[in-house]
Order: sequence, then C-alpha cells, then structure tokens
Amino acid sequence: MFKERIDELKALITEYDDAYYGHSHSIVSDTDYDALMSELANLEKIYPEYATSDSPTQRVGSDLTKSFPKIRHASPMLSIENTYSEEDVSDWVDRVSKSLPGEDVRFLGELKIDGAACSLIYEDGRLIRAVTRGNGIVGDEITANIRTIKTVPLAVPRKKPFEVRGEVYMTFGDFETLNAGLIESGQKPMQNPRNTVSGTLKLLDPKEAARRSLSFAAYFLLADDRRGSLYDNMKLLTELGFCVVNHSGLLAGVDGILAFCKEWEAARHTLPFPVDGVVVKADSFDQQERLGTTAKSPRWVIACKYPAEKATTVVEGVDANVGRTGVVTPVARLQPVFLAGTTIRNATLHNYDEIERLGLRIGDTVEIEKGGEIIPKVIRVDLEKRPLDSVPFDPPRECPSCGSPLSRLEGEVALRCLSSSCPAQIFAVIEFFVSRSAMDVRGMGPSVIKQLLDNGFVKDAADLYDLTNEKLLSLERFAEKSAANIIAALEESKTKPLDRLISGLGIRMIGAAAARDLADFVADLSELYDTPAEEVEKIDGFGSVMAQSVRLFFDREENRALTERLRAAGLNLKGNRGRPVNTGGKFAGKTFVLTGALEKYTRETASEIIMREGGRVSSSVSKKTDYVLAGAEAGSKLARAESLGVRVIGEGEFEAMI
Ligand code: NAD
Repeated sequence: MFKERIDELKALITEYDDAYYGHSHSIVSDTDYDALMSELANLEKIYPEYATSDSPTQRVGSDLTKSFPKIRHASPMLSIENTYSEEDVSDWVDRVSKSLPGEDVRFLGELKIDGAACSLIYEDGRLIRAVTRGNGIVGDEITANIRTIKTVPLAVPRKKPFEVRGEVYMTFGDFETLNAGLIESGQKPMQNPRNTVSGTLKLLDPKEAARRSLSFAAYFLLADDRRGSLYDNMKLLTELGFCVVNHSGLLAGVDGILAFCKEWEAARHTLPFPVDGVVVKADSFDQQERLGTTAKSPRWVIACKYPAEKATTVVEGVDANVGRTGVVTPVARLQPVFLAGTTIRNATLHNYDEIERLGLRIGDTVEIEKGGEIIPKVIRVDLEKRPLDSVPFDPPRECPSCGSPLSRLEGEVALRCLSSSCPAQIFAVIEFFVSRSAMDVRGMGPSVIKQLLDNGFVKDAADLYDLTNEKLLSLERFAEKSAANIIAALEESKTKPLDRLISGLGIRMIGAAAARDLADFVADLSELYDTPAEEVEKIDGFGSVMAQSVRLFFDREENRALTERLRAAGLNLKGNRGRPVNTGGKFAGKTFVLTGALEKYTRETASEIIMREGGRVSSSVSKKTDYVLAGAEAGSKLARAESLGVRVIGEGEFEAMI
C-alpha cells in the first residue's frame, strides 16, 4: 500500500514538475506541492527500501530547454530544503550546531524572492555570460535576455573574474502592466509573476524579454578573493553595483531566526515584489564547507516558507463557465480584494457539489486562497457574517451559453451541456485546437476567436482553414500584419505531425503522449474510424477507458466528417505506421523510450535518428521496450525501466551505437 502511495506521489510530483519547470505553469499551489513532497520524503524515510535515486526528493527540478547552449556551473546550483514549521527550523539549528561542536554559528536571514535563480559571469569588468539553474549541474545560456534587465550591471569596477548568483524577479506593477496589455490584445493573461519570469528567461527574442521589465537581486558571490562570509560579501556586491536581496544583520540562535521570519511574514506585503519565505544561511564560508550538501540541497541553508496567502471578501454572484467538453464550472464573482500582489475578482468553486460542501450562498463572506492557478479558490464560508435574507444556491438546470438542459453523467460530479452546437463549447474547442500544444496557430487569441464566432466565420476547427485575409480584415481593429500572421500560422499548421492534430481534437483522456502513440499506431487517421476498442487497447499504456474514449469520439459521424474536412483543407492525417522502415538499420525492430533532458540532441533529432535506423520510439516503458535513452533528471520512466529490467542507456552509449 505504501509502495503504491510512493509511486503515486512520484508520478504526481513529476507531472507538476514538468508543468512548473518545463512550461512555467503551476497546476497546484506551492503549499499543496510542498505537502506532497514532504509526504513522499517521510514515506521514503520510513520505507527506505522504496527510496530510489531518481525520486524527486533526491534531485533538483530541471528547467533545461532545447533552445539554448548548455553551460556547466562552476559549483552546483542546488535547491533549498524548505519548511513551514518553527519546530523544523529549531531542529535544523540543532543539526547545524551538532555538526560544528563547540563553534559559534552566526546566521544570515534573507528574503526568499519568488522568481528564478540565475548565475552571472563577469570577466575583465564586463558581464560575459548569464546561465539559468537548469538541472543544477548545467544551465541554459540566456545572456541576451539577462542583458535587458536594468538592475544587472553590464560593466563593473573589477577586472578579476567572478560569478554572482541571484534571483530574477518581476514586480507586481510590471506584472499587472504586462497582463493588462495581453488582455487588451486578446491574449491569455500570465498566471503569476514567478511563472512569467521563468517563461521570459526562455524567450528566444530578447526584445520581447526587454518589454517584460524583469529585475535582479543578488545573494551570492563566487570569487577567488571574496570575503569570508555571506554578510561581508553582500557589502562587496553592493560596492560592485548590484542590488542585493533584503537581508538581516547576523542572527544568533533560533530565537533570532524565528523573530526574523515573523518580522517578514507581515512586512513582505509592503514590498512591490513577491516573497514566498525567508532563507536562513550559516554565514561563514568555512562552516558552510564543513556542513556540506546533500544531492539536492546544501546543509547550511533552510527556507522557511509562508503558507498560501488568504483573504476575506464577499461573494456577489456565481457564474457558470462552460468548457470544451461541456462541463459547467461554477466561478464565484467576488467583491474585488487584493491578494498576493494582484486584485482578485473571481474564485473557482470547482463543481456544484463543492458549493454544497462549502454551504455557500450568494452574499456570503468567504475566505479565499491563492494557489498556483490564476483563479484562486474559496476555502471557507464565514457563517457568522451571512446576510439574513440569503437563500441556498441552486445549480443551474440549463446551459448558460445555449440554454440546453444540463445533465450529470453516471459516476461524475460535473454538470454537462451535451449540445454539440453550444457556442461556449465551440469557443473552448477552437481555443484548444489552436493552442501551443496542438496546432500552435500564433496570434489567434481569445478575442480573435470570439470575433470569428460572432461574425459566423467559424463554426468548427475546419472552418479556420477557409479564413482569408479579407475576412480577417473585415473584423474590428484588425491590422494587415496581424491578418497576414494568422494566415501564415494556419498555413504552417498544415504541416504539423499527426499527433498534434490528434491532440487538438481534444478527445477525452487523450493527452500529448497518448496522441503520439495513436499517431504511431495508424498509417492514416481514418483507420481509427472503425478500429475496435479492443485493438486500440493493445497500444502500450492504453487502458480500456482511453480506448473507449477514442472509439466514442470516432463513432460520431460529425467528428469523422470534421477530420475529413481537415484533410481536404490540406492538413496532414498520415500516421507513422508502415512508414518505410529501414530493416537493415542498426535499430531495426527495436523500441526506444526517451526520457529526461538530453544534452546533445533534441528529442525530435534523437527520434529521427532512431527511426532512420529502423527503430521505433514509444512514449511509455513496457516489457516490450528495448532501450530507455535517459538524459539528466529522468523521472518515473527511468524508475519503471529499472523495475522491468529494461536496458537504460545514456547519450554517450547511444552515440556509440550509431
Ligand atoms: P525553492 O524555489 O524552494 O528554493 C530554491 C530557490 O530559491 C533558488 O534556486 C533561488 O531561485 C530561490 N531564492 C530566492 N531567494 C533566495 C535567496 N535569498 N537565497 C537563495 N536562493 C533564493 O526550490 P526549488 O528547488 O527551486 O523549487 C522547489 C519549489 O518550487 C517547491 O518547494 C515549490 O514551492 C515550487 N514548485 C511548485 C510547483 C507547483 O506545481 N506549484 C512545482 C514544482 C516546484
């Protein structure tokens, strides 16, 4: 039972890490994420036989991309052990003192700014390189983007080489300005300042990065002749022209540390940038060296994090949002309230059972919490403040968009609109079809889609390909350039591989990886029109629910007609089965799974090489897998390969094989 929970926690954390580090997107709040990580660490402590070296508790979350050159850090850029409890802080101080018997240990308290770590390398008085934390060992070289930050000095009064580490962050003001611009131009607003920073650092266009107005605060200096402690080096960094993180004087013992944590718990709200905790570090470099590090974090530092922020406000109404699959989600309309740096006007209520569970009525005073999502959630109703005339809330019976009766499918909590002509669903379907993970039609934001629907130009995804410059220019506030860009993006989307199209169709339970498997399974999408569910279920990693979902989708005449219209518009419906296979190739008949961050190849090039040599690339590890090609930070697939005894190779071995 505990083994299963450990596996489940690892899979969940890996999924959240992929979104957070890979796509700058939080699926859950940091507090919820940290609770899962702490549960996993505890279980691994109790059941060390289930602790593996690939566990997320043992590695630094990696944000390496394929787009930038890789630079090895002079010394690893690690994570920081974190806690929400005073007791843990006190235990940590005890551990530090026991490791340094009889020594006086001074601590430095610093704010933990919520942004992204960056290393800046200076030589001959100039900034020559800037590198992300990456996987802790190597990072992405993002110098052009960092040069756009006004608080990063490009020239310094020191010729000898040195390295500065610090946090790139975004002020609330700059975040609000950016989001106002995005909303104005019909695009989706950013989720929060931290995720915006991490996404911005990976932009390929430094001009766009410059427009986002990032900031930098230093907390660490690496140089041959640096002074003997962090505190002294803060002064040196300031002399060199860096802004340093807000920090304490030297703190003695637990009481000093806890007082510092308390002081900033409230005071951080007066700052114009996000702070998610304080970091406490043993100040002396000599002591730091003797305390050492674990695989994931130094033993001389601890982060005391503040729980997710909450605020109290009044529910003015409950709106109903209709999603792509017709699910109706209740959203509380709130009296605007300032929380975690932004003004909050809405909070999600997840589903109508949740409203009942909370006992929520319109007019109620509620406590809301800001998690990872841009929309916070309602966590509690203050019954004492309930207005006398309030009445219980009845879930809607009809779709707020098209008026069709709503249904609840067996075994589901969600209410659904089952009408295929519901405008809100069509909007969401098209928004999903053009999104980055599917057909990636740049420039087609929510306001453009809305106009296309309102003007009757588009009723489904295939209609997008009938759009012309003239039609787009007839829409309000449409410039020649934006119209041309959209037409070009639509044209480009026609050449996308079949898995992107399958993703974009939004078949329930079929995400990007399953879409790739389906694209490998067929020579042409039309084969799925009548493949029995039992056959689809034979695909590695497919269960009966996924197979059934594919069947249900293609059983509908209108879906088959849609894909045929997409074919007629020139989209690629050809899959990978039966592609001429090089039977004499080095990998003939072999199945590979790729996992982790490869350094020398992108996944696409590695896959191409494998296929060119007659091999197959699959998304999930099974007994039929011949090789798992694992890069840095490989996660659950590596663990599965190890448990099934599948051969794991690194890039070096792969290269030798080819
Ligand atoms: P971390 O962010 O908790 O701590 C390390 C980082 O703190 C450093 O890399 C640096 O960027 C930053 N930092 C800010 N001020 C600092 C200072 N004064 N001194 C030193 N470092 C400072 O650890 P992590 O490994 O980067 O990320 C793990 C955390 O990220 C989790 O605890 C969680 O909060 C969050 N996370 C959230 C999700 C999610 O889905 N919500 C997913 C993954 C990670």
